[in-house]
Amino acid sequence: MRVGRSLDFLKQIFISDEPADQCGRLCSLRVRILGWTLLLFGLALGVTLIGMWNYHHERLLEMTQLEATQAGLTIEAGLRASMLKNDRQAIQSTIDEMIRVTKLSRIHILDGDGRVAMSSDATMPGKSFDRDSDQACISCHQTRGVKPQRSAMLIEDAEGPYWRNVIKVENRPACYGCHPPEQKVCGVLVIDASMAEMYSILRDATKRLLLTGILTFLLIAVVVSHVVNRFVLDPLRVLRAGFGKVGRGEFDHWVDIKGCGELAEMGESFNIMSRAIGRYMKEVGRKTQEFEMLYAIVQKMSETIELKRVMEIVVNILHDVVRAKCVLLAVANEHDKNRFELTWRMNSDRRCFWADYCIHDEELPHASICREDLLGWQTGEMLVPQFTDEDQRAMLPLAMKDMRFGMVCIVKEPGHRFSHADKNLFPSLAQHIAISLANARLYNQAITDELTSLYTKRHFYVKAKELSEDFGRTFCLMILDLDHFKKVNDTHGHPVGDLVLAGIGELIWLSIRRGDIPCRYGGEEFAILLPDVELDEARRIADRLLNYIADFNFVVDEEHSLRMTTSIGLAAYPRHAATVDELVAAADGALYEAKRNGRNQVRVFGVAEV
Ligand code: GH3
Ligand code: MG
Ligand code: MG
Repeated sequence: MRVGRSLDFLKQIFISDEPADQCGRLCSLRVRILGWTLLLFGLALGVTLIGMWNYHHERLLEMTQLEATQAGLTIEAGLRASMLKNDRQAIQSTIDEMIRVTKLSRIHILDGDGRVAMSSDATMPGKSFDRDSDQACISCHQTRGVKPQRSAMLIEDAEGPYWRNVIKVENRPACYGCHPPEQKVCGVLVIDASMAEMYSILRDATKRLLLTGILTFLLIAVVVSHVVNRFVLDPLRVLRAGFGKVGRGEFDHWVDIKGCGELAEMGESFNIMSRAIGRYMKEVGRKTQEFEMLYAIVQKMSETIELKRVMEIVVNILHDVVRAKCVLLAVANEHDKNRFELTWRMNSDRRCFWADYCIHDEELPHASICREDLLGWQTGEMLVPQFTDEDQRAMLPLAMKDMRFGMVCIVKEPGHRFSHADKNLFPSLAQHIAISLANARLYNQAITDELTSLYTKRHFYVKAKELSEDFGRTFCLMILDLDHFKKVNDTHGHPVGDLVLAGIGELIWLSIRRGDIPCRYGGEEFAILLPDVELDEARRIADRLLNYIADFNFVVDEEHSLRMTTSIGLAAYPRHAATVDELVAAADGALYEAKRNGRNQVRVFGVAEV
């Protein structure tokens, strides 16, 4: 168990647990660090071994040489007397004794011809050292007749390396009394000191050093690997996992690198970076959402260009997007800034409500906005979105360049407030609403007759066609022609005639419902489309309008006023006609009948006067 666990530990240290291909494994930080450590350590060990070998080799060589020289001198001193006396027994016993007590391997005594006279090796006596051919002698005796420069040398032969000391045993003056000076040399002492032991010691030391080095390296490798694992690879692994998670969009992932140092700082920086990216991505996501919402809103608003429909869409969109309790849109009248058209929607209702409001009226039709708000907008105090009632109520002014359209009031449910996203969205939303209102206003101008503020003839045909194409829908057409209008022009002049026409336009607007479409068909002729109205109801509306006009006092100046009457022709679709043109012809026919029958009356197509 224990062995298995320690093997696991070593495996964890030396082998990466991450799956990788061959190249990845070789390039891994662990392999590189261990590889370089091994290389450097190997180099250091090699250099140390070579240095040590050389140093100790030389030292030991010197020591052996010294030892051999001293031993030689001692032997020479010990043998001289015996050699002078030529006491062979004494010489041999001295040689044997010397071999026994010293580390010398061989001692020979040569005569003048180089022949071994006596030796520690019993096989040697009688053999000769030839100084001209013997390898061991040539290196010193290079030239015949010239004294060798040295008396000792290192020799390597089949028996191994040994140090050879050659000493001449000479007759000295102190001995001349007994031994005449003519006998100069008694013999040559050759002493061989084997270096085998020294080399063996050296090899042993090298082996031990190598072994120690390898063990040290293994220990260092384990420690280095463990240190690298703990302080470098583990943090890098944590960082790599962190990068992976951030790459997959987990920006709230937090890397925890313990301790201090560069990698811990890197972890800190990573956390800061991932948070920043997370925030940035959230912001981008929020902006994209905002952009998508705006795009959807703009697309919805661009479905129509009619002011009323645009207003309705704006209220509905704001109601849904902001989840408001109430949304109210106030659009100022283009010609009269005191008048506002209001539309609003409550949470409790799916419908939009409509009302006109004059700033001089005390009561507003809905409580979400007050007169002061509209006055504030009117005086130009409200330029940017305003949030009141603890962020539960927002008022957005609607303006484009120097055109000001009105304002939107949004009220949240009690206990709910506008979010940060809502507040960010409002300015651009208000901008887009203003653009839609500007377009609607331009369109309104294009389809409205300036004098009477009724729709143009072209718009009449567009709407009549739309209604006729709306399958199963019924509607009535009322055509009016002022009676003897020419006389008004002739009597009071054209400007008065224009005033009368404008007054008629106002009277028509006041007497019809919100969905009816009143148009100026020609000079003093008017056409009114009454959608979803049966003929009886249309007849009642026509009678009411007829009386309304007949009863109205058109003021010419302070002293004069005049009365007008009108003739009206009525026809119903699809009861009286299959096309718009046929319907116009039918209503026109009824009008003609009304004129022919004495004017100031309503006639229905195909109905004879009672
Ligand atoms: P009738 O009862 O038969 O309709 O008599 P009428 O006088 O109204 O006859 P008619 O419809 O032929 O006259 C229309 C007049 O309306 C002629 C024209 O001078 C006048 N008119 C048309 N457009 C305008 C306008 O824009 N301004 C003014 N002031 N008069 C207009
Ligand atoms: Mg006419
Ligand atoms: Mg007329």
